[in-house]
Amino acid sequence: MRRLKNYPPDLDRWREAARIAAGARELGLRLALPGARRREIAEAIEAFVRDHGAEPAFPVNLSRNEEAAHYTPHADDTAELVDGDLLKVDVGAHIEGAVADTADTVEVGGGRRHAHLIDAVHDAVAAGVRAVRPDGSVDAVSRAIAEAIRARGLKPVTDLTGHSIERYLLHAGKSIPNVPGMTDASFLEGEIVAIEPFATNGEGRIANGPFGNIVRFRRPPPADDELLNRLFTRFRTLPFATRWVAASERTVALERARRYLQSYPVFVERRGGLVSQAEHTVLVGANGGEILSVT
Ligand code: MN
Ligand code: MN
Repeated sequence: MRRLKNYPPDLDRWREAARIAAGARELGLRLALPGARRREIAEAIEAFVRDHGAEPAFPVNLSRNEEAAHYTPHADDTAELVDGDLLKVDVGAHIEGAVADTADTVEVGGGRRHAHLIDAVHDAVAAGVRAVRPDGSVDAVSRAIAEAIRARGLKPVTDLTGHSIERYLLHAGKSIPNVPGMTDASFLEGEIVAIEPFATNGEGRIANGPFGNIVRFRRPPPADDELLNRLFTRFRTLPFATRWVAASERTVALERARRYLQSYPVFVERRGGLVSQAEHTVLVGANGGEILSVT
């Protein structure tokens, strides 16, 4: 029987996008120093992506402590990182729709207070990638992730998952849960997936927090609105940051676009537990998972 294969024809482009995203991720980790402003780190990361020939696939997420995901700084955010903050740096880059998605967690100030949280997701993403097999079950990856996190005395976050990736589609339809027993899906050789365990010392579930400064057009704006059409032409239906809109237009544009935009809340841990995350973009190769998001 001939096995179904799913390699993108421009695999080199996917490798390049993932290499750039990984470089941007590492830059973010280095910049996460006490006193640094999250907005300046975000701008440096996104500039790195653009300077290397890719585009951000979504605004860099710089979620902190009990924030698990979906926070990006707003345009005049002056908040500074403090010693001991647990910062997630989650970067997306794409080249002509070849999307990479990668994340890591750093303790600001380089202490070891949260080392077990960071070690847990490093163990978990490595164990998850090792469990990838072409035609193998997704559940094997979920099981490996959950076991690695629980072995550190922590909980996997059950309502955030990894995902398959397709051209211009960050979440392409196949979920990779961080706990077993949730999926019957299998991997296809040649498929690109994001494996992204989250660990917490809280309850292991997330709730919607405040607006995280990320929006997305859910439908095209009216044809006679020149300003909104300019934004729609630039971002289409991909997520974008409110700070990416020119200051002179931001208030009026976002107010007028309200009916056409989906706005994302920050995902926060329900009991206020600290959350760590690691994420790699992975190719399902003939012999198993290959991490693409390496520098
Ligand atoms: Mn992801
Ligand atoms: Mn991500």
